[in-house]
Amino acid sequence: MKNDIERILVDEEIIERRLDTMAKEIERDFPAGPIVVVILLKGALVFAADLLRRIPRELSIECLNVASYHGGLESSGKVDFLDRHFPEVKGKHIILLDDILDTGRTLAAVAQRLREEGASAVHTGVLLAKDKKRAEEVEADYVGFAIGDEFVVGYGLDYKGKYRNLPYVGILKLSAAT
Ligand code: 5GP
Ligand code: MG
Repeated sequence: MKNDIERILVDEEIIERRLDTMAKEIERDFPAGPIVVVILLKGALVFAADLLRRIPRELSIECLNVASYHGGLESSGKVDFLDRHFPEVKGKHIILLDDILDTGRTLAAVAQRLREEGASAVHTGVLLAKDKKRAEEVEADYVGFAIGDEFVVGYGLDYKGKYRNLPYVGILKLSAAT
């Protein structure tokens, strides 16, 4: 697996230090009261697990499966909700977590749906945000790292289902991207 990585973009130690700061920011910004953290599967799993363990306050966790037709498979920009049930978010304060902000379609669609379902506030956090023009006008409230417009894997992010368990974020070798 390691041999497929061309270059490490964000190493483990740097991620951990950044998560310490992000957790403090979140803790500071949120008033007391019920918080629901919504994790977008599967990409945000690793990031969320490491971040939430640094936030010593009461919260509950929900997970959502969405499909965003990415990489030119379909250019509609449609985001599908794959779960049979949508979590109960009425009147709740939400922190929505995803792995990476790219076109912005996923985060925009999920945040909108959460508002439609009656969430009282929706804040967003991503481990990575690509520095590029987005299809949707959306930015995250909490960003781990701004990166260039490159395809990355590791720390939750996959290529064809692989590399999610790498402890760092890296760029794939061309030879591994088959
Ligand atoms: P958006 O809807 O912002 O275009 O894309 C968000 C989703 O696309 C992410 O949740 C992620 O699954 C996928 N994605 C976007 N960029 C990358 C990338 O560089 N690497 C990987 N592995 N997935 C990406
Ligand atoms: Mg994803």
